[in-house]
Amino acid sequence: MTNAAAANPPGAGRFAPSPSGELHLGNLRTALLAWLFARSTGRRFLIRVDDLDRVRRGAEERQLADLAAIGIDWDGPVAHQSDRLDAYHAAVARLAAADLVYECYCTRREIQQAASAPHAPQGAYPGTCRNLTDTQRSQRRGEGRPPAMRLRAQVRDFVVDDRLHGRYRGLVDDMVLQRGDGTPAYNLAVVVDDADQGIDQVVRGDDLLPSSPRQAYLASLLELPAPEYAHVPLAVNAEGKRLAKRDGAVTLSDQQALGHSPAAVLEHLAASLGLHGSTPAQLLESFDPARLPREPWTFAA
Ligand code: GLU
Repeated sequence: MTNAAAANPPGAGRFAPSPSGELHLGNLRTALLAWLFARSTGRRFLIRVDDLDRVRRGAEERQLADLAAIGIDWDGPVAHQSDRLDAYHAAVARLAAADLVYECYCTRREIQQAASAPHAPQGAYPGTCRNLTDTQRSQRRGEGRPPAMRLRAQVRDFVVDDRLHGRYRGLVDDMVLQRGDGTPAYNLAVVVDDADQGIDQVVRGDDLLPSSPRQAYLASLLELPAPEYAHVPLAVNAEGKRLAKRDGAVTLSDQQALGHSPAAVLEHLAASLGLHGSTPAQLLESFDPARLPREPWTFAA
């Protein structure tokens, strides 16, 4: 085949909201950035609903309606993690076959206590169940509480390249792959989904930057390509705290109730990024990742 475009189809970017409530302006701004990064590089743009937990009835419909109202479009049907349980279980099975999975019986409390020991790396699972003997394991099984499945990590940290943060080295621990109730863990699901959906560019809030080394490491174990990352600054309130529902008129519907049209809200978001225009397509002309603000965006409602 000589056609380069056909041989190398463009990848995709994405926005992956959790349907736990309405999107606020910070979420819409992140979605807009993900759209701009994708479209300015000829990528497809996909929406995936991360609905393995924290699902609130009606939230997905409102989130999608708000994205569409400010002019964000996407390709193909919206994907749902809840439709993909087989793919996650297959990935855990693949890791287990390589002896990279163990059962963990720890309670949240036990983990907190062990993790506050003087030499434990911040936030890392201390490995309590990693080397249980067969006898200990069958004893724990007999107690009746179903175990979580953890990764037997072979490294303590991993490096990713981020468009805004550069080379970022972060902690990798024996992360949960599947919870005790059988629900696949976020880190696993996101890696499997991004690869299966052909997503090669992940743009999201920089609160998730510390998760990216774990995810890239997991991708390497599953022999999946790691995406390009761009972790963008979050929106904060007047006190510098992460924007939340209680911070006033922070959703599109709140803004509309104040008389601001979706196009006006988009203009406001664009201006916060140093861009001008009232449709996402108009913003593409002046979009330059190198000139994006690196500070959190203060939204004082
Ligand atoms: N669903 C996650 C969230 O809303 C984001 C997942 C991701 O972008 O990797 O926090």
